[in-house]
Amino acid sequence: MKFDGIILKFGELFLKGKNRYRFIDRCLLTTQNKLKQFPELTFAKDSDHLNISLNGVDPEPVLKQLNFVFGLHSYQLYCGCAPEIEAIKATTLAVVKTIENDGKSIKVLAKRGDKRFPLGSPEINRIVGTHVAENSCVPIDLVNPQVIIKIMVRHDTTYVISREYPAAGGLPIGLNGKSLLMLSGGLDSPVAGYYMMKRGLAVEAVHFDSPPYTSPRARQKVYDIAEKLAHYMPNGRFVLYLVPFTKLQKEIFTHVPDSYGMTIMRRMMYRISEGVARRVNCQLLSNGESLGQVASQTPQSMFTINSVIRMPTIRPVACMDKPEIIAVAEKINTFDISIRPFEDCCTVFLPKSPATAPKPEKCTEYEKGWEWESMIDECIRGVEKIVIEAGKPLLVDTETSEEICALL
Ligand code: ATP
Ligand code: MG
Repeated sequence: MKFDGIILKFGELFLKGKNRYRFIDRCLLTTQNKLKQFPELTFAKDSDHLNISLNGVDPEPVLKQLNFVFGLHSYQLYCGCAPEIEAIKATTLAVVKTIENDGKSIKVLAKRGDKRFPLGSPEINRIVGTHVAENSCVPIDLVNPQVIIKIMVRHDTTYVISREYPAAGGLPIGLNGKSLLMLSGGLDSPVAGYYMMKRGLAVEAVHFDSPPYTSPRARQKVYDIAEKLAHYMPNGRFVLYLVPFTKLQKEIFTHVPDSYGMTIMRRMMYRISEGVARRVNCQLLSNGESLGQVASQTPQSMFTINSVIRMPTIRPVACMDKPEIIAVAEKINTFDISIRPFEDCCTVFLPKSPATAPKPEKCTEYEKGWEWESMIDECIRGVEKIVIEAGKPLLVDTETSEEICALL
């Protein structure tokens, strides 16, 4: 049996009071954008749902695309028919037949949205339920059914629905500002980026690149992760800023004792990220730090590192266990990319025993007497902007990478 359309329900949009209509319009716009490869679809919005008429299109690939639209709480596939009892009986029976072999008990639940319809909801339930019971072998259970068949009678049409599925959830991207994500090639930061977008923030990313210590293949990982994240952006584009970090990173490990190298390096990364964020109008930083995961992610380390900037830093995976992070990485298709074994700038210079409780005063002392401020400015001014589009993976230009390495 063919489905006629999809009803999409909004999530937390109800909490937004007067802003609700802005959120609904944004959801509609993003949904239309994500589905523009299906020109046959038509859209209608209501105060609490969107209705997509399939007009013959297979719902499978449409639903796959809808997974990238935040702000949608759930969806239901429906079969439509005229608001007449005979048509409703026939359509409901056809829907029930599609799940007949599942062996699950059902209940018919009608809702008469159009009060001009001559039968009340209990009567529709009784008439349609009897018809289904007499013409199929599906067990009816009015008290504890496994599947509820919903019948929504409207003025000009009736929807018959057999299931409700969870959608992407969250809030629509684009009304909540923008965050700059510190994106490494690892498992955590792409997941952090996904959660930022889920809460309605547009996300751009900064990546610290240290050629020749990090290879073009490490950069390729970041490009490939950015492509996966691009699918969630309403316009399907993900902006990445590459920071030329080698010179400053080498200087750090020349001037700072080994045990504080990583702390100071991360202080520099935060300063640069804040500088880039201000330039590109991001109001928040975000990253994949997870409490207790490594030396730089103890509370004392976080305090000492974070104290060099004023911009708030959101750490969406801070309280998640690694297996939980991995499950999300698999869901958003970044897992296979993140586990490719190439070095990141944080790992190549990793000291043997980094301080786990570094003190801000000591950092200030180690940051005296050498010219890091101008190098920070150079890093901020020298960022390379790359735009990566969903569905169009970008290959790292290895020749350019080799040229950069030759200059160092
Ligand atoms: P991830 O945390 O993404 O799995 P990781 O474990 O290699 O990567 P950590 O050493 O845990 O990285 O670093 C903590 C966070 O710092 C990362 O989640 C990321 O947000 C940021 N970070 C680390 N390296 C880089 C880099 N080269 N460019 C941008 N951000 C980085
Ligand atoms: Mg990590």
